[in-house]
Amino acid sequence: MEQAIGPRARRPARAVRVGKVTMGGAAPVVVQSMTNTDTADVAATTKQVAELWRAGSELVRITVNTPEAAAAVPRIREKLDRMNVEVPLIGDFHYNGHQLLTKEPAAAQALAKYRINPGNVGFGRKRDVQFATLIELALQYDKPVRIGVNWGSLDQALAAQLMDENHARAQPWDAPRVMREALIRSALDSAQRAVEIGLPRERIVLSCKVSGVQELIAVYRDLAARSDYALHLGLTEAGMGSKGIVASTAALSVLLQEGIGDTIRISLTPEPGASRTQEVIVAQELLQTMGLRAFTPLVTACPGCGRTTSEFFQQLAKTVQEHVRAKMPEWKISHPGAENLTLAVMGCVVNGPGESRHANIGISLPGTGEAPSAPVFIDGQKAMTLRGEHIAHEFVAIIDEYVARKYG
Ligand code: SF4
Repeated sequence: MEQAIGPRARRPARAVRVGKVTMGGAAPVVVQSMTNTDTADVAATTKQVAELWRAGSELVRITVNTPEAAAAVPRIREKLDRMNVEVPLIGDFHYNGHQLLTKEPAAAQALAKYRINPGNVGFGRKRDVQFATLIELALQYDKPVRIGVNWGSLDQALAAQLMDENHARAQPWDAPRVMREALIRSALDSAQRAVEIGLPRERIVLSCKVSGVQELIAVYRDLAARSDYALHLGLTEAGMGSKGIVASTAALSVLLQEGIGDTIRISLTPEPGASRTQEVIVAQELLQTMGLRAFTPLVTACPGCGRTTSEFFQQLAKTVQEHVRAKMPEWKISHPGAENLTLAVMGCVVNGPGESRHANIGISLPGTGEAPSAPVFIDGQKAMTLRGEHIAHEFVAIIDEYVARKYG
């Protein structure tokens, strides 16, 4: 019997509306990101939110940590609206969210969702009161809430209680298992308290973030099996560069393949001076390479080897990827479906023609010692041969013409 390939059917989760965006239910997995500007700096935060949205972030979270940041939220929203940047804003609250949202009703209204960390809502007896205030504010302003647990700020009272329960077991669990249970119980118990206060289950999203790949997979498998809340996936503190990308991809791809996850965020530490949008591109590429969604045409390129000593094909692959990424916001409106286009840029005759035939448009550049010509394949057929100094320019024009014809 032929074995089916592809991800498992999505785990059924309650659909949650965040502004105009739906997560959970039958909605596709939503890409979100978070700013790293000072929210009180209205201009810088507005600029970065707009950049993240233009890169494809469907939701953007901002820190709301001070009265100045809370006061800035409605001004950021107004500026974004004037720029036609419709992205819903999520407010990230720790310790003083109940005060900030109470004192800044315009911020409470302007945000499309509140993120609450149950480990950082308050301490002692204040915790329950402050948590209830946040939920009542979400009810008052008709907003959904993410109950976002993080192992770096786990509810210590709950962790201690579970340790005590564990000591009483005939066969105590090991410490990592107790920690995972504490994360999950913190999320589920907090969600239950929110429901008891009156928040509908359709307005609750859960997350339980840790920084270890295997721990994250174990936590979310368990969380997914024990609830039908929409789930936000992310590996917290994933790190910088390839380490952060690989760790996030390793963890999230396993869960997405199992049908777990309704929205994702890739928590990359940007290189100094690098764009924050990288986390959006990685999230999109993860979903697209897994076949879950399509955002922008992706370029298949060979890695190069001793058969091509020229850097031209690397440069062409880069040029083509940057071109289609830059064009996609326009194509999304004028040529819907262009995101499914497949492209190949190959370095020599060994795999060049074969791989190029599998793409909608592919080019096989000449390797060392080959005749200086580059056959172009369109929908599996050799369509023309490019030569000379303007191959890059001509190949990009072929792509644009194809998009206009096929997706017009
Ligand atoms: S297509 Fe050619 S240049 Fe590219 S990796 Fe394969 S053999 Fe090397």
